[in-house]
Amino acid sequence: MRDFDYVVPKSLDEAVARGKQAEHRFIAGGTLLVDLLRLDVERPAALVDLNAVLSERISWAPNGLTAGALARNSDLADHPDVRRELPALSQALESGASPQIRNLASLGGNLMQRTRCAYFRDPGVAECNKRRPGSGCAALEGYSRMHAVLGGSRACIAVHPSDMSVALLALDAIVRTRRSQGGREIAIADFHALPGETPQVETALEPGEIVTEVFVPASGFSRRSAYVKVRDRAAFAFALASAAVALELSGEKIATARVALGGVATKPWRALEVEAALLGRPPTRETFEAAAKLAANGARTTPHNQFKVELARRVVVRALERAAA
Ligand SMILES: Cc1cc2nc3c(=O)[nH]c(=O)nc-3n(C[C@H](O)[C@H](O)[C@H](O)COP(=O)(O)OP(=O)(O)OC[C@H]3O[C@@H](n4cnc5c(N)ncnc54)[C@H](O)[C@@H]3O)c2cc1C
Ligand code: SF4
Repeated sequence: MRDFDYVVPKSLDEAVARGKQAEHRFIAGGTLLVDLLRLDVERPAALVDLNAVLSERISWAPNGLTAGALARNSDLADHPDVRRELPALSQALESGASPQIRNLASLGGNLMQRTRCAYFRDPGVAECNKRRPGSGCAALEGYSRMHAVLGGSRACIAVHPSDMSVALLALDAIVRTRRSQGGREIAIADFHALPGETPQVETALEPGEIVTEVFVPASGFSRRSAYVKVRDRAAFAFALASAAVALELSGEKIATARVALGGVATKPWRALEVEAALLGRPPTRETFEAAAKLAANGARTTPHNQFKVELARRVVVRALERAAA
């Protein structure tokens, strides 16, 4: 690990200015960044500590949830209003990492977490377009069991690992940020980037831009929501496939549906065709199974990760059943 400076900014504006400098990195809980420093994947000149300039406040109002970027994953998952009003968010957070990590991990850091692609995390591997733009992608011809079947490109097929972001996508969250020109709002659907030819660009954030808080609007479907995650171990493992769903019923019919997938795509993935197939139908297993067939439409698989197509369909059915119950 190379030496680096440690900077505690006195204001958000100072943090933005510092973050814009080359090779400066923000740190919040440090559960990801310290890992990447140890692995020698991140080699910053300075760490800019966000803990003094951001809020960890979580508040519920009739129009929705506002949570500061420093809100710890465990506090957000445990918050009684989040459990009651946004169960998919609470369940997604609780399915991630371990209690110790969730106690430290922040909302902003979770949104910004980097892929777990083993080739990305191993600087001994020369080919990784995300770590070394233009170097190639070792996963394309390598071992790709954990990799994406949706949203990939010739340059990168790494999965986005965040459970929480999948729930936020199903719940139409808005990410609030600060950059040198002032604050702005980014719809969660536009926050994470597809790899395309530039997999090193992972979000819509500009250099130095900081996530300050997340807003999740109250809606007719947010209470009837659920998150289901399938993984190799029951705890402390990333998703092979996961689904966050939300339903609004009108009488015996589905009036609104939200379906988002994790573990199978290069960014949290909205399954719009599944949503359309649910509308106006009764919330039965037959409806869910028919709609879920569309979950992985357009999938591009490798021999190692073909199983994810069927797994994605099954987690969607299970999550829809849980939300409807
Ligand atoms: C062993 C292990 C298992 C895990 N399992 C799961 C899992 O199953 N599911 C899951 O979803 N996650 C999992 N995680 C990931 C975990 O959720 C993240 O490490 C954590 O959420 C990151 O938050 P942090 O505050 O520690 O971020 P940090 O490590 O401090 O920062 C992470 C990144 O975000 C940037 N950043 C942080 N805050 C901001 C901000 N406000 N604005 C702009 N940039 C910012 C940093 O510069 C850095 O690049 C696991 C992690 C570990 C170590
Ligand atoms: S899948 Fe993406 S992160 Fe993994 S080796 Fe290829 S370019 Fe790197």
